[in-house]
Amino acid sequence: MGSDAQKHESAHPATLGKDDPAFIQIDGLEKSYRSRDGGIVRALGPVSINIRKREFLTVVGPSGCGKSTLLKLLAGLIERSEGSIRMNGKEIQGPQLDIGVVFQSPVLLPWRTAIENVTLPAEIHNTLDRKASNDRGLALLSMVGLSDFHGKYPNELSGGMQQRVAIARALMHEPSTLLMDEPFGALDAMTRENMNVEIRRLWAEAGKTIIFVTHSIPEAVFLGTRVLVLSSRPGQVAEIVDVDLDKRRTLDIVTSDVFGNYTRRIRRHFNSNGAIE
Ligand code: ADP
Repeated sequence: MGSDAQKHESAHPATLGKDDPAFIQIDGLEKSYRSRDGGIVRALGPVSINIRKREFLTVVGPSGCGKSTLLKLLAGLIERSEGSIRMNGKEIQGPQLDIGVVFQSPVLLPWRTAIENVTLPAEIHNTLDRKASNDRGLALLSMVGLSDFHGKYPNELSGGMQQRVAIARALMHEPSTLLMDEPFGALDAMTRENMNVEIRRLWAEAGKTIIFVTHSIPEAVFLGTRVLVLSSRPGQVAEIVDVDLDKRRTLDIVTSDVFGNYTRRIRRHFNSNGAIE
């Protein structure tokens, strides 16, 4: 199934509207790791997909199929084995300021306040003076709903709040693209739902391109404008699903028939091995 869809995607690398230029082009991307015993683990690919500017692409697939690997390759954090990733026509070679990354754990520095964590990238890269950096940090904290918490230390913030700080920090350099790797996976169910609504709002307001990895099918459908479904390792394109739901999504949508149709359609890929929840 994966390889057919893969061929289809390669044969029509567009998968875009006629007038939509590809913003990120992933072509024949593969990643293999060397295992401890010296063998080779093929983790991902080949994967080809074009991603549009301001798209919210969610990536779903069974555990170990290479979702994090795909994100790390996009972030320029690891080297690919085969294929190419181009952003605005330029090959991605290493991390870049135009891409913000949010991981499952917020990884905040405990001795720095929320605002000091958000402004850290500007300090490290020396890109803004102190005042500009502080102003921008405060605006970002307000955008993620934490205006009143800028002076708090991470241990004074809930898990959801810490993840909001991490999102604000990832936006510090005004990246065009945000890569998110199961960012809400460690949160309780209700906080996670609220964060999903928030991230949709932020996406609509900030005009970012978001690529969001999850192993939850409902989360992938709720958030995505498209869902990239990966097969078991080495992850290949099983299907790319256009999600035609209201742009303003509220939590009510998850009980609708049309939402259920999408989740069933995606789950179908995994029923045989039960590899996905
Ligand atoms: P997912 O995010 O879908 O759970 P990963 O991208 O983390 O999957 O991993 C894909 C496969 O690659 C897994 O089998 C994993 O064990 C393997 N893998 C990931 N990172 C490494 C590494 N640094 N060295 C060796 N194998 C790795």
